[in-house]
Amino acid sequence: MLSLLDLHPDAYPLEGYRKRQLLQWVFEHGAASFADMTNLPAKVRAELSASYTLDPFLSIETVPSSDGSVKYLFTLPDLKQMEAVYMPYEDRRTICVSTMVGCPAKCAFCATGALGFGRNLTPGEIVGQVLAVARGQGISPREIRNLVFMGMGEPLLNYEHVMTSARIMLHEHALGMSKRRVTLSTVGLPRGIRKLAAEDDLGIKLAISLHAPDEETRQRIIPTAHANTIAEIMASAREYQAFTGRRVTFEYAMLRGVNDHLWQADLLADLLRGLVSHVNLIPMNPWDGSGFEETPEADLQAFYDRLEARGVEVSVRRSRGRDAGAACGQLALKKPGAAPAGLISLQ
Ligand code: SAH
Repeated sequence: MLSLLDLHPDAYPLEGYRKRQLLQWVFEHGAASFADMTNLPAKVRAELSASYTLDPFLSIETVPSSDGSVKYLFTLPDLKQMEAVYMPYEDRRTICVSTMVGCPAKCAFCATGALGFGRNLTPGEIVGQVLAVARGQGISPREIRNLVFMGMGEPLLNYEHVMTSARIMLHEHALGMSKRRVTLSTVGLPRGIRKLAAEDDLGIKLAISLHAPDEETRQRIIPTAHANTIAEIMASAREYQAFTGRRVTFEYAMLRGVNDHLWQADLLADLLRGLVSHVNLIPMNPWDGSGFEETPEADLQAFYDRLEARGVEVSVRRSRGRDAGAACGQLALKKPGAAPAGLISLQ
């Protein structure tokens, strides 16, 4: 059976206003089954159920965090698992979605990397995370306006599926998200970045996980850095900007004594000269056995101040959901100690 969620709306099975009704059921009402789509004729509903599935997950568990974030743990039909994180803010609702089961990038400070690569997610399994989270939160999927491809996986290594899912996120009759509120984060793969720049109907935001401005440090913490030099990554970021006119974000997880020296702040500022960019400093989120520690607050502040003094636009990303194991780099399918895990659907 085909999964309806794998399809771009242009490829939906119905025509005209019937198609609009179907899209409304899926993306506005977040219908969990074709049977719920009461304004479609029974025959159409029966045909849809005979040919398509709607829910790509076997089961979903939730792990709430004390800050209001909720980690969603999905079990797929092949029993593999992956996660999404829902983050409500005062003025917006954000979802962080996975693009793979596990991740091949194996960054030394990231718990997902330690799992290794499981498999690519299908477009439906990516879009389905948004629908399932909305259902779990009791809201319309279209109320989730902000999305980051920053969960498990390297989105540029599951390129076609991620692009299809992004087009479904943006499609006005599907999730209708604004391209300015969809961000793809990559470990820094120049070929993929150039390819993304050429998707000119898409225009989503790009974030690059740089994490170090010098080759030695970057290669120590990011295995793929051996294949992609910082110079190549920066060249592709410049091309991306020239093509799209978009500001590029650089993510920088602060690792104590590794990449938090002031000379590295200076080097980073040098690298960014002439590029319209933003640096997101992320305090390292701890996990058992990572072998890395957080940069102390005073050192983080000094690093921040140095970047700012050098004219770099910089902010600190305080990760959400740490106590639920839901913060950046903690996604590793663990349910922390005593946190209550709610089961929301089992088929
Ligand atoms: N593969 C993509 C998507 C992951 S996004 C990428 O590399 O960008 C998750 C972000 O959190 C990345 O910037 C990642 O490097 C960062 N991260 C990973 N482990 C972390 C940790 N333990 N603490 C803080 N940030 C971490």
